[in-house]
Amino acid sequence: MDKNLLQVLACPHCKEKLFYSEDINKLECKLDSLQFPIEDNVPNLTCKENFE
Ligand SMILES: [Zn+2]
Repeated sequence: MDKNLLQVLACPHCKEKLFYSEDINKLECKLDSLQFPIEDNVPNLTCKENFE
């Protein structure tokens, strides 16, 4: 996971910063308790089930 990329990423829901969780290889928004998978080093911020 590119640290520079992480700096510019924001939660699509609350626009706060995301945190990278190395254990599960996912980005997390602590405010919303959302998790975003990283696929081929590209974070998938459109994870649909998060918004249903
Ligand atoms: Zn959020």
